[in-house]
Amino acid sequence: AGRTHEPALLFFSEEMNQRAKEHLRIESELRDALANDELMLYYQPKVSLRSGRIVGAEALLRWRHPVRGLVSPGVFIPVAEETGLITELGNWVVEEACRQIRQWRDANVIMPPVAVNLSARQFDRGLPQRMGQVLEQYQVHPEQLMLEITESLLVRGADSVIAIMNELVAMGLALALDDFGTGYSSLAYLKKFPISTLKIDRAFVVGLPHEQNDCAIARAIVTMGQQLRQEIVAEGVETMEQMHFLRELGCDQLQGYLFSQPVPAADFERMLREGRRL
Ligand code: C2E
Ligand code: CA
Ligand code: CA
Ligand code: CA
Repeated sequence: AGRTHEPALLFFSEEMNQRAKEHLRIESELRDALANDELMLYYQPKVSLRSGRIVGAEALLRWRHPVRGLVSPGVFIPVAEETGLITELGNWVVEEACRQIRQWRDANVIMPPVAVNLSARQFDRGLPQRMGQVLEQYQVHPEQLMLEITESLLVRGADSVIAIMNELVAMGLALALDDFGTGYSSLAYLKKFPISTLKIDRAFVVGLPHEQNDCAIARAIVTMGQQLRQEIVAEGVETMEQMHFLRELGCDQLQGYLFSQPVPAADFERMLREGRRL
């Protein structure tokens, strides 16, 4: 105390102050967003590399901000994670996905499973029961819903995490491991978890088929997944070249702009009705 700051330090703390303010603003606006119905889910198709058909979808959060327009989850999810608001957001996502699945069923749309993203912070003892309640409320079959989780959860590695996963799987919910390859999972590790799908992170898809390292990593993941009898989904597929390479490798599904960006529910429904193919 009483010491004068170096100019550089002063500048730095001013910048941190700005960031803290920005966080606070987003946090408070995000609370309003939940209350004011500003959130919505977009759906991005997952396509079979064998049949070319839509075999799934991932639900992705969008925030329609009254002033700022469409805000990307890359901006507000980290803030929600930090503040704990992610549990409320996450509950909203699960409920909204189930509501939509139910609506599609009522409209006789044949819907492949829809995946929602779960934050590690949502993963507690109460999760299976909360999931059960929402499925019950909307009379949605658990096979219609899939949960995408990230490697950080596995690294925590506790028996309690495995127990919760087993409970979810026993209920009929399938688990997909998201952003695979960016964390620290090893083959030995993966065996312990009841995971049915691996999603190859976009970071490794981007360089296909020209970057040797990306090719080696993609090949290793596909081979490993086949050994463990897991479905392999490549995310962020943008080019025909990437698609051909992944198909040759034996990858099961792709998700990416090559087929479609994430779109509002009505557009996704139209794609399904029209039987759009790769
Ligand atoms: P993610 O789970 O890895 O989702 C895939 C992201 O890649 C999405 O970004 C999607 O729009 C984008 N993407 C898909 N195909 C392509 C492509 O071909 N090229 C490129 N450049 N990008 C592609 P989005 O929707 O902005 O979401 C970003 C991240 O935010 C997600 O990454 C996920 O980690 C998080 N997120 C989104 N919705 C939720 C949610 O409901 N709950 C939680 N906890 N996180 C969410
Ligand atoms: Ca995901
Ligand atoms: Ca992902
Ligand atoms: Ca990713």
